[in-house]
Amino acid sequence: MPEAPENSFKGIDNHDSLISDQNKKAFQFIENVTIHADAVQERVLAEILSRSANVEYLKRHGLNGHVDRETFKKVMPVVVYEDLKPDIDRIANGDASPILCSQPISEFLTSSGTSGGERKLMPTIQEELGRRSLLYSLLMPVMDQFVAGLDKGKGMYFLFIKAEAKTPGGLVARPVLTSYYKSAYFKDRPYDPYTNYTSPNETILCQDSYQSMYSQLLCGLYLNNQVLRVGAVFASGFIRAIRFLEKHWPLLSNDIRTGTIDPKITDPSVREAVLKILKPNPKLADFIEAECGKESWKGIITRLWPNTKYIDVIVTGTMSQYIPILDYYSNGLPTVCTMYASSECYFGLNLNPMCKPSEVAYTLIPTMAYFEFLPVNRNNDGFITGPISLNEKEFGEQLADLVDVKLGQEYELVVTTYAGLYRYRVGDILKVAGFKNKAPQFNFVCRQNVVLSIDSDKTDEVELQNVVKNAANHLSSFDASLIEYTSYADTSNIPGHYVLYWEVSHSGEIPPSVFEDCCLTIEESLNSVYRQGRVSDKSIGPLEIKIVESGTFDKLMDFALSEGASINQYKTPRCVKYAPIVELLNSRVVSSYFSPKCPKWVPGHKQWCTEN
Ligand code: AMP
Repeated sequence: MPEAPENSFKGIDNHDSLISDQNKKAFQFIENVTIHADAVQERVLAEILSRSANVEYLKRHGLNGHVDRETFKKVMPVVVYEDLKPDIDRIANGDASPILCSQPISEFLTSSGTSGGERKLMPTIQEELGRRSLLYSLLMPVMDQFVAGLDKGKGMYFLFIKAEAKTPGGLVARPVLTSYYKSAYFKDRPYDPYTNYTSPNETILCQDSYQSMYSQLLCGLYLNNQVLRVGAVFASGFIRAIRFLEKHWPLLSNDIRTGTIDPKITDPSVREAVLKILKPNPKLADFIEAECGKESWKGIITRLWPNTKYIDVIVTGTMSQYIPILDYYSNGLPTVCTMYASSECYFGLNLNPMCKPSEVAYTLIPTMAYFEFLPVNRNNDGFITGPISLNEKEFGEQLADLVDVKLGQEYELVVTTYAGLYRYRVGDILKVAGFKNKAPQFNFVCRQNVVLSIDSDKTDEVELQNVVKNAANHLSSFDASLIEYTSYADTSNIPGHYVLYWEVSHSGEIPPSVFEDCCLTIEESLNSVYRQGRVSDKSIGPLEIKIVESGTFDKLMDFALSEGASINQYKTPRCVKYAPIVELLNSRVVSSYFSPKCPKWVPGHKQWCTEN
């Protein structure tokens, strides 16, 4: 992730001492807040509650101006998005009274988590940008401890903004990174060797994803020898950039040869910003053509950007599926996961960034929000079964405070934020891996319930069940029915795509167009983040249905039993990841069908378009 420390690099004479000063301050801050983690958390909660003492939500639950942890835990319920939706909808529809937060809601951040098929809307306030910026400012001082000299070159980061919409009440709704890149914290950042990127702001702030990607790659290639680190937010985004390069390198190298920019790049501000950097460089163009023209792209990152020390991308959680391909393109350069954040709140950072991806642990920074932790349990098969007590009071009492979590235990993260979320279940499962002073460090285990994910899309089992049921209706007019199904996120090609394995019972022929219709129906019924990935970001490929021979799912069960599953408890997995199972399924495919076109997608919630 990029970072935006608050500093003042006016010149480069006293550059080294300024950097070490800035780094010292960052470490001092981390030490202070982790040593005094509990006191900081108590203060953060008191600050949030005293500022918002008069908001409707806290009054409704009878907090009566109390700001202490004990009363807060006794009185306030632990909630999920659906509990807050009526209040969020009121704000989205223009009610500006203090419903959740005493400060005005400045915009909504649209999460990649969905509710009713649409992105969740997270309220935010102006000052949260400062908190996010602070977390970014800690990243490079930490990195500097492990890799020296990063201030002597540039970072090639592929960063993008996404479409934004307006709620019926007129508030902007957009992803958190779009909000950040468009803010003065990013756009007007003072010169700093740590935020010295190859991509000019104009290329990042270009809404057209083709032009943005093309121009960022062009600058990154042109400045190849200055690049010391490369990255994107998530691994999927970085690999998409490399695949884009595979397709477009002849055009890109031609631009470098001639010092011009392809006419398909029409955005005048992008053209101007790129042309300020680009000069004809035939030697570099020859080099790029020679490297990209080779049959194998193994190690292409280290070949084209020879001074790169690491790849800065998130590969924890569902992104771990991209580690092998990153290793292939980079000849095993270290992959660095620097931070853990969300639309609700930015959480923390990795203090040991050069560790292996499987060992990444994020230290939550106690000033970001008030954190609580709901212990999760697993059944004998290892499935998360959630908290034990059902009674609301007992449920609330199970939550542990930041400094009280136990090493090795898994928890669901619950946050209370400055922007008006109180005891809100984020849906992430974390495992305590260690402590920095008194602050715990967490492995990211998974997002609860997510079965399929290619990019930032997150499809859960219930949603999958509903969309498959819906699509399988197409079979009934052919006297056919769906017997069993499972799914697989296929990332062997980029963009990756969802694969559904279907076992169908039928007496006669079913025309291919019927299965294609099924594919499209599924895509049309999947959530907005999936459809945006298909339509706008092009980060997800067409959905595929693979029809398998009859008896395949029995074979799948036999396989699970042979691996030790219990026959009484066996249920068909609705998503498969384990390579031998995927191989078994693939070996029994009789035909396969793809979605013939993109599903429909509009920025913002569907209903806003009709309301506006
Ligand atoms: P969003 O609400 O769309 O901003 O997505 C935030 C979610 O992305 C988090 O709640 C996590 O599930 C996931 N996420 C963010 N950072 C990381 C990370 N470093 N490792 C794994 N998952 C992450």
